[in-house]
Amino acid sequence: MPELPLDLLELYCTRFSQVPMLSLDGEGRIKYANPALLKRLGLTENPQGEPVTHFLDIDLSMHDPLFRDDELTITADLITAAYTHHGERNTLRGHMLSNGSQIIVIFDIFREYDVEILEQVTKLNLEMSSIARTYSKKAQASHKLAHQDALTSLSNRRHAEELLEDLLGGKPLMQLRSFGVILLDIDDFKSVNDTFGHDAGDQVLKMLSDTIRQQLRQQDIPARYGGEEFLVIAQCETSENLIAIAEKLRISFEELYIPVIKKAVTASFGVTMGRPEDTLESITKRADKALYRAKWSGKNCVIFAD
Ligand code: GH3
Ligand code: MG
Ligand code: MG
Repeated sequence: MPELPLDLLELYCTRFSQVPMLSLDGEGRIKYANPALLKRLGLTENPQGEPVTHFLDIDLSMHDPLFRDDELTITADLITAAYTHHGERNTLRGHMLSNGSQIIVIFDIFREYDVEILEQVTKLNLEMSSIARTYSKKAQASHKLAHQDALTSLSNRRHAEELLEDLLGGKPLMQLRSFGVILLDIDDFKSVNDTFGHDAGDQVLKMLSDTIRQQLRQQDIPARYGGEEFLVIAQCETSENLIAIAEKLRISFEELYIPVIKKAVTASFGVTMGRPEDTLESITKRADKALYRAKWSGKNCVIFAD
């Protein structure tokens, strides 16, 4: 078969430069690679005469005769060629036409577009999941803000009430099935503020919060319920259990020397057990009444409400 005039082929290949094309001799040495292919391979010059396998993983064995007579066999095959560019492994697919002494490979630009689209989709996916991660972090942060008291880092009233409602609704919270509530209010806190200032008062609240956290067990949940009022949801089987926990807190306050005011402060405690028929309102009301009685009984004591 007369060879295709190479200059014409080159002109054709250059004109259709988005389509990577390649012309090889019968041994697979490069006769001509068009600019589109060079660009993909990251080459600036035509590596004329070099084996194509230096640049592309390509199988040049012919499989499918398109035409055959006594003198001539022309084969046409679908081929896949892989190459590495900028450390990335890429694949080109295309068609190969050969008469045994000349091989022409025309790569399939549309499949390449597929790869590009795939890459873009992948990139987009990555971006989306990174946005999702950022968002979930922000959501976590705002969830924390919505549930945490800023001064003491304890749960805030809203969170405590949500947890109580969950518990009363039968939702087991960290194995907290049988539980009690401790409501405590710092004694004569107004005079702390009046004597030492509001900032000192804040520090006292922080120290007491830390003490509450330290004294409680893992399964108990402390919350700042109001200004100088705290609520603890405590796991306990009996009222004696509950009273003991409150008593432990009361004593830890009594014994806590607070440098900023150069003394300890005390608190009064109202405690009550959770009951199956309780609502958020009924249980907190009971605890509050007990607390009120504790104040009336001379403060710095624990009163249990039945
Ligand atoms: P009682 O023993 O009867 O509870 O007396 P009390 O002085 O503790 O109670 P009262 O309700 O009269 O005063 C509570 C004080 O707590 C008044 C308020 O300024 C103060 N307080 C509430 N929240 C904060 C806070 O976040 N920081 C500071 N520093 N003080 C607070
Ligand atoms: Mg109060
Ligand atoms: Mg008080």
